[in-house]
Amino acid sequence: MDKDLLLQARNIARVIDWRIQLRIPSILARDEEFSLRIQVVAADGLPVENVPNKLSFEHSIGIEGLPEQFRFDPGTSSARIDGLRAVGPEVAVARARVETPETPWIKPVVPSNPAWIFDEPPYRIYWGDLHVHTSYSNCHAWRCLDPEWCYQYAREVSMLDFAAAADHLRGIASDPQRWPRLQELVQRYNLPGEFVTMLAYESSHAQGFGGDNNVYFADEDAPYFWLDREDMRGGSPTVHLEELWRQMDATGREYFSVPHHTGRSNKYRSWNEPYHDPTREPLFEIYSSWGSSEMRCSHMPISGGNNDDVSYFTDALQAGARFGVMAASDDHATLPGSVHHFRTEPFRVTMLNGHAHKGLTAVRSPELTRPALFSSLRHRNCYATTHVQSLIDMRIGEVSMGREIAADAELRRQRQVRVYLTLHDAKIATVTLMRNGVALESQQLRGRQLTEEVNEVLFIDDEPLDKIALRDCRYHNQPFVVYYARIVDNNGAHQWTSPIWIDLQ
Ligand SMILES: [Zn+2]
Ligand SMILES: [Zn+2]
Repeated sequence: MDKDLLLQARNIARVIDWRIQLRIPSILARDEEFSLRIQVVAADGLPVENVPNKLSFEHSIGIEGLPEQFRFDPGTSSARIDGLRAVGPEVAVARARVETPETPWIKPVVPSNPAWIFDEPPYRIYWGDLHVHTSYSNCHAWRCLDPEWCYQYAREVSMLDFAAAADHLRGIASDPQRWPRLQELVQRYNLPGEFVTMLAYESSHAQGFGGDNNVYFADEDAPYFWLDREDMRGGSPTVHLEELWRQMDATGREYFSVPHHTGRSNKYRSWNEPYHDPTREPLFEIYSSWGSSEMRCSHMPISGGNNDDVSYFTDALQAGARFGVMAASDDHATLPGSVHHFRTEPFRVTMLNGHAHKGLTAVRSPELTRPALFSSLRHRNCYATTHVQSLIDMRIGEVSMGREIAADAELRRQRQVRVYLTLHDAKIATVTLMRNGVALESQQLRGRQLTEEVNEVLFIDDEPLDKIALRDCRYHNQPFVVYYARIVDNNGAHQWTSPIWIDLQ
């Protein structure tokens, strides 16, 4: 092989493998000063050491103060441009044209995530990954790194606002003695206003005993779930999830648990099981790198196989469960918020989990502190995405996603469901309104229909509420109707709103 050609090929591959991430706050007040953060990562998900690239800011919208050109300091691949101002009208997006000396003919334009601009923001949106495995899990530990890396990577490389190492310290071979250091790191890396950590662990339960669930705490010094009993041992312990709830209730700590990969072919939660408590489990992990647990047939099947049980998000809603949605990586490579898999099985191209996009949760919260984020999650004030940081909302009248409303005469006759969206780097959006766990209607926005500003999609459902209501459900015996929306863009990125429930009584 010609060495010069090989070198040239390497250079091109390297440039194309780079991913330039531009990040701005998702919600801004008009005229508010803010910063743009830039990070370049290579195909392995790690920061590039030296970026000779030049960035030219072109076609940005809604922002004042961006320089025309920007160069990285030698030896760095991250930067922060301060002193920008949000001018609107509705949306801000920074756009950079990337020029590289090796491949002058490739000049891609990379957009930042969009920001919604309000005169007085009703909330802020923060992005995070709440399900990360580290070397403390002893589960594919050769791929994982220390929990300290989890927080550093989330904060510095993925530029996330919050993260949680949710290690399995039992159920899959590991050691509950590691809990004190996890608590210490959660304390150390929590910087209100900049980056929030959350104390968490994963609790595995056998099929029929609750499946896999993660537990999240409002405090930094909560106890781990451990009983010196036979049913706590093994890879799929037969201790029941309700036992975990009893033990956690007894601690007096604020917590909630989240079922995950319920569509998986083993160790899943079935919604035929008799228990669900929306105060103890307000959220459902609808997507992770395992795939989608939204419904049985999806474009993102669960890695290793789906089950045929009533275990999916749509099944849970039909059973009367009241879940908001979240998504997280369940990453066994300790790269939260990345789209990269790192250190595959030695000498084999296999990956533990199937999907390159790993999942993020968007939380609507008044401020970036743990109490505020915890309360927002607890109240389903959040939505889920495979990876893009698009802005979405769903409303019925003035009521936004995650809430419950009582049916009045007008709602009994007709519902106007509005979905609002500003996409991140996409040209087509398919918005599907789901009613009672079944697709009701899809609308596609493309070309001029999909603007860079806030797009509104209206669905009118005029079937009488009394006719369509779900009744006598396992977890909710009063009649209700539930809506949520799924938004899929032309790159395959998925987002899900949390539902809105309309109660007939
Ligand atoms: Zn694992
Ligand atoms: Zn996990």
